[in-house]
Amino acid sequence: MATEVTVSPLGDGIFLASRALDGGPGVRAALLLGGERSAVVDTMARPEDMAPFVELAAAHGRPVTVVNTHADWDHVWGNAAFPGAKVVGHRLCRERMQGAEARERLAREREAHPEEYANVALVPPDSTFEAATTLPLGGLTLVLHHMPGHTADCLVGYVPERHLLLAGDCAEDPFPLLGSGPLGSWVRDLRSWDRPDLKTVVPSHGAISGPELLRANAAYLEGLSNDSPVPEGVPTFYAEAHTANVAAARRLRAK
Ligand SMILES: [Zn+2]
Repeated sequence: MATEVTVSPLGDGIFLASRALDGGPGVRAALLLGGERSAVVDTMARPEDMAPFVELAAAHGRPVTVVNTHADWDHVWGNAAFPGAKVVGHRLCRERMQGAEARERLAREREAHPEEYANVALVPPDSTFEAATTLPLGGLTLVLHHMPGHTADCLVGYVPERHLLLAGDCAEDPFPLLGSGPLGSWVRDLRSWDRPDLKTVVPSHGAISGPELLRANAAYLEGLSNDSPVPEGVPTFYAEAHTANVAAARRLRAK
């Protein structure tokens, strides 16, 4: 499995890290270095993935808050890289990480790849919220908003000083994966963020973009029907994801 982590700056005091994942798109995490606190948004697939962020945060010397955009494994399995850190997530993210499904998934992957996942521990959020919460970091602010759709516990993080939306899996390039829904409110939520003060959208998977990604994702989700063709030129992972999206849209609309 490729485990090389690439780090790049996104303006002053903000860094992005990314790595490849087996059988799918790569995943991305963010580090915000505030005057008072640092925030790590998602921790990728294992604590070792966070080595560059651990180093940058230590050099910065402020306490670290970890934020999880949702409980999917490729966003939270590195949480143990920050022992003692406050971990913030939606209430349902905490529930998912404490549930049997999360434990079983980790046990399965650890059995298949013992060395890869030896150091992973499930560290659920100890600070949760419902609709929204604000984390002042000093010079930078991270405002978290619940946006269910991909999963029930998904959130986006807005940094107003930089006109930057860390979209987690609420937006994705080429298109998002419709899991538990709901579908209608997700489309509305995406459109509500398509506003003039938003300049940069950083999804966890796929290319960094502007608000046009939110528009495209909303149009894709809204247009999902039984005869939606697979979008042209997408890799196998997304061709399969599209078929699953069509089935999920049918199921959610029948509710
Ligand atoms: Zn993901």
